[in-house]
Amino acid sequence: MKFGGTSVADLDRIENAARRVAREAEAGNEVAVVVSAMAGVTNQLVSYVDQTSRIYDAREYDAVVSSGEQVTAGLMALRLQEMGISARSWQGWQIPIRTNEVHGKARIEEIPADNLDDRLSQGEVAIVAGFQGISPRNRIATLGRGGSDTTAVALAAALNADRCDIYTDVDGVYTTDPRIVPRARKIEKISHEEMLEMASLGAKVLQTRCVELAMNHGVRLQVLSSFEDLPGTLVVDEDEIVEQQVVSGIAYSRDEAKITLIRVADKPGIAAAIFGPLSDAAVNVDMIVQSVSPDGERTDMTFTVTKTDLDRAVETLKAHADEIEYDQLLADANVVKVSVIGVGMRSHTGVAQTMFQTLSDKGINIQVISTSEIKISTLISEDYTELAIRALHTAYGLDAE
Ligand code: ADP
Ligand code: ASP
Ligand code: MG
Repeated sequence: MKFGGTSVADLDRIENAARRVAREAEAGNEVAVVVSAMAGVTNQLVSYVDQTSRIYDAREYDAVVSSGEQVTAGLMALRLQEMGISARSWQGWQIPIRTNEVHGKARIEEIPADNLDDRLSQGEVAIVAGFQGISPRNRIATLGRGGSDTTAVALAAALNADRCDIYTDVDGVYTTDPRIVPRARKIEKISHEEMLEMASLGAKVLQTRCVELAMNHGVRLQVLSSFEDLPGTLVVDEDEIVEQQVVSGIAYSRDEAKITLIRVADKPGIAAAIFGPLSDAAVNVDMIVQSVSPDGERTDMTFTVTKTDLDRAVETLKAHADEIEYDQLLADANVVKVSVIGVGMRSHTGVAQTMFQTLSDKGINIQVISTSEIKISTLISEDYTELAIRALHTAYGLDAE
């Protein structure tokens, strides 16, 4: 059982979550619980770091931002003990949850779960601090924002759990963010592949890596509400889904920025000259378009990076201006990536056309397009985020009755 930030936002909510845990334990289940920090705490910790050090040491960032989960794990264990349930808290290093060295965005490599397994079979409930593990050099490493989901699935895999239930503030995965589209519909079952795309294209209900782990380790994953007793959404293999929609969901990401290089030389090696230095500077490039050059000599190159990488990307491109040879560099952080996702796209035509027509009918200009087998993404002005998502949601027949 994993409880996210809003589900442990204060002492009453911790008690509410503890009651759910107690119910499972009293029903005779062995239960491991993963908790997030109280809502808002991690943001506050990140901001402390930002205010202290502009280009920070990621090991110290991790030392600071991992601390929120330690508090909720201890409080949850205490609350359960008060209810007469045997419970113990565990921090990442105590299990240990072994990660790689990439502080701030570490991947879990191994969880030797024997110790935890023994305690569970003795009837003790384990309360594990999410989001954190321990690096090969014995330092706390965090798993990237939203990483408690990944702790939960990795632990479920290590413990061979029957189920991994992700309790959150919505009662499942919806066709799009229900905060943006009130008419979004709850999805009963979603395929791993679609969930993976939804998560990586911005739906923050699950961290991408946790879906990947669930798929690779066959963990039965469910998203459900910690406030209501309602069936949630199951994340399953594609062949378990009977009625497949062409488009299953719409995701968006505001964490995008666009860079355009005006009049770069249109010659072999130019893409390498641009993207090589960016990759060396650890800037992740996502969508790319190169326009045709009217004269065969010069062309414009547009691509996107995450908002957080924008300054670094611009600095890098300026430092390499001589090799790349461009007339002008334009940077725009006022963009959003809107994507439609569905495995049905493999066998249906016209899905992209519906998207382009719908946006055009609303007078929304598409700046960049990228596609893969089961998704189409467009980059538009951030000002039209809600309008675009709502219009697409209706156009693909996803609105709830
Ligand atoms: P937690 O703190 O429990 O981890 P998150 O805030 O990380 O919760 O994720 C839950 C939020 O994800 C919801 O409140 C909702 O606004 C957002 N969300 C975005 N896309 C979707 C979607 N397709 N379905 C459900 N929730 C979504
Ligand atoms: N507390 C961490 C975060 O806010 C991890 C999580 O909640 O999943 O990113
Ligand atoms: Mg989350």
